[in-house]
Formats: sequence, structure tokens, C-alpha cells
Amino acid sequence: MNKTSLKNLIRPLVRELHAYVPGEQPKIKGLIKLNTNENPYPPSPRVLRAVRAAVDGRLRLYPNPTAERLRAKLSRLHRCQPENIIVGNGSDELLALAIRTFVEPSSESGVRSLKAKGQGLKLARATVQYFTPSYSLYPVLADIHGAAKNAVPLNSDFGLPSLAELRRGRQWNFDAALTLVTTPNAPSGRGYSTRELEALCKAQRGGVVLDEAYVDFANENAMRLALKHPHVLVARTFSKAYSLCFQRVGYFVGSAELIAALHKIRDSYNVNGLGQLAAEATLGDLGYYRTNFKKIIATRAWLSRELTKLGFRVLPSQTNFILAKPPLFPAEVWLQKLRDRKILVRWFRAPEVRDYLRITIGTRREAAALVRAVERGL
Ligand SMILES: *Cc1c(COP(=O)(O)O)cnc(C)c1O
Repeated sequence: MNKTSLKNLIRPLVRELHAYVPGEQPKIKGLIKLNTNENPYPPSPRVLRAVRAAVDGRLRLYPNPTAERLRAKLSRLHRCQPENIIVGNGSDELLALAIRTFVEPSSESGVRSLKAKGQGLKLARATVQYFTPSYSLYPVLADIHGAAKNAVPLNSDFGLPSLAELRRGRQWNFDAALTLVTTPNAPSGRGYSTRELEALCKAQRGGVVLDEAYVDFANENAMRLALKHPHVLVARTFSKAYSLCFQRVGYFVGSAELIAALHKIRDSYNVNGLGQLAAEATLGDLGYYRTNFKKIIATRAWLSRELTKLGFRVLPSQTNFILAKPPLFPAEVWLQKLRDRKILVRWFRAPEVRDYLRITIGTRREAAALVRAVERGL
């Protein structure tokens, strides 16, 4: 088969797709890695013991298909029923499942014709809606599904627009099949109050996912909204706050009706067994993690102060990273300057954030190394 006909085997949608670009995972010796919001502290010793103890001949067996024990533990933690919880191969998997559960796929030409014919409600059924900037995976997942995207700007300080502002702006769609809200926001780090999130949820007539990937570093969380409003799901992950990126475990909490629908379309064994065990052991040692949250929050305050002294504009953060506008040189130049000193941070090309660096809060030593590198780079 020649190259052209081979290409034609691939659906046009997939051919044209731009894949998600994850932060780099380079193998450079001595690199200080502050680019993907990983936790600088290892999983608790109890978690490591539990995983090690499970590595034996039992690896030949399938894991529990519904992560039953983990869901039972999570339901006690969040004071709900196991039926209110679905566990995924990272929360990324669940975000994709949510799109497939709520949103009608529609080709680009289909979307254009719905727009042209003024079929607003049909278009809304095919629409994934989110704020910009927020998690850059959302548009990719929408594209993979062939959904229409409605990307609506946050306020200039990355705050949530009020309902009145959303109505006035006219771009926001209160009928969108699915609305995804990163809260606290990434990449800005800005936190949102449960009160304003609830007002937004109540105004939406489609599904809403509150993506709380970073909420353990914030002042408040909106979990109660998932248990109060049946069209609202809260997404959590063991990756960031619980030092388990490697194991890929995330979960949604929500009404039994929506959770049951998500269960229907997931892979039968979507969460690997070691991941389930690691997450269960994590819930048995929450004190260890809470100590780490405190350390990271203290380092966040220290680093924000030090960078401010050096001329950075640091946005207030409720997460384990900060968004900071560097002085003197463009952010992209700083990215390289720091890289030359073996410190890796993240820079996004998107216009709203291209003047900023996103810096993961590491250990106090890593933060101090960053401050020294900045001093030398000035
Ligand atoms: C990291 C991240 C996730 C995904 O976490 P996984 O559970 O590792 O898939 C989801 N949402 C946001 C906003 C994130 O930053």
C-alpha cells in the first residue's frame, strides 16, 4: 500500500488532530523538574510498602473491575455512597468519558450547518464548554470526540466572570452539553469560591465537571456541590497532591445516575491493580500528605515573596504551582536561561499566558535553587 492510501485509512478527524502536548520528562542528571506540577515528596512509606508487597505472582490476575475497595474508602472520606464514585486511569480518562457520556459528536461541517440554520439547542448538545485559560487537555478531548468547542475567556485577572457578565458577554452557553471548570484554575493558580461555583452550576442546564486536581492546596473545595446538584461532578486525582502520577488514579464524585452512565462506557479493567492498592494505602495515611501540603503551601509563600523581590509579578496561587511574569526578558527567554542552569519550568504559547512562566512548587531547596538561578540570570 502506498503512503497516500495508507493515510486515507485514517479518519479525517484523526488525521487532522493535534495531540495534547504533555510537559517534558527529560532524563538530565541533576535536573530540577518544576514543569509538570508533580509533588516533590515521595508517596508515604506505607504506600510504598503496600505496593512492594503486592508485586508477586498475583500480577497474573485481573484487578477488581470497579475498584470496589478504593470506592468504599473514598465514599467514607467524602460521606457518600460507593455508587457516587467512579475511579479512572487518572482523571484524564474520566474527563474523556464525561465528554462521551454527555456530548453528541458532530463533524465540523455538521457544527457549521447547525450554526447556519440557527439550531442553537442541537448545537448546544454537541458543545464542550470551558474557560480560557484552563486545562489545555479539554480542547484536545473535545476534538478527539468531534465535539464543538466553546472556549470563553476568564476575566483579565483569571477570575470567574459573574453570571451577569456571562449573560452580557453572550458567548457563554447555558445549554452546553458539558461545561468543564478547572478549580482552582490552571495555569493561573487562582482559586474560586464555592459560592460563585454554585451560582454557575445552578445556571447550567447541561452537565458540569468541577476539575479539582489541585484543590488540596486551596482554602476551600466544592465537593458538596457534587452531592447536592445531580448534574454536577467533581473530579479529583491522586496524581498531584498524593504523589502518585506514575500510578494513574483519579475519580469523579456525583449523582448515582451520572456515575452509572460513566461506568457503562469505561473499559472493564480501567484502573490497574497496583494503582488501586497504592490509592487505598494513601487514604490510610492522610496525615503524611497533609504535612506535605503544609510544606508546599509554605514554600509557595516563600518563593512568591522572593521572586516578587526580584521583580517578578507573581499571581496569588491556591495550587502547587505559581504563574509569574518575569522582568527584563520575555518569558520564553527565561525558560531557556533556567534550563541552562538545569531548572525546568513550563511556558505556554497561548496569548493570555505567554508573558508568564508556570513554576511548580518543589521542595524548599529546589525553590532556593530557582531563586539563585534567577539572581544570576538577571
Ligand atoms: C494534572 C491534571 C489532571 C489530570 O490528572 P491525572 O489524574 O493525572 O490524569 C486533571 N486536571 C487538571 C487541571 C490537571 O492539572
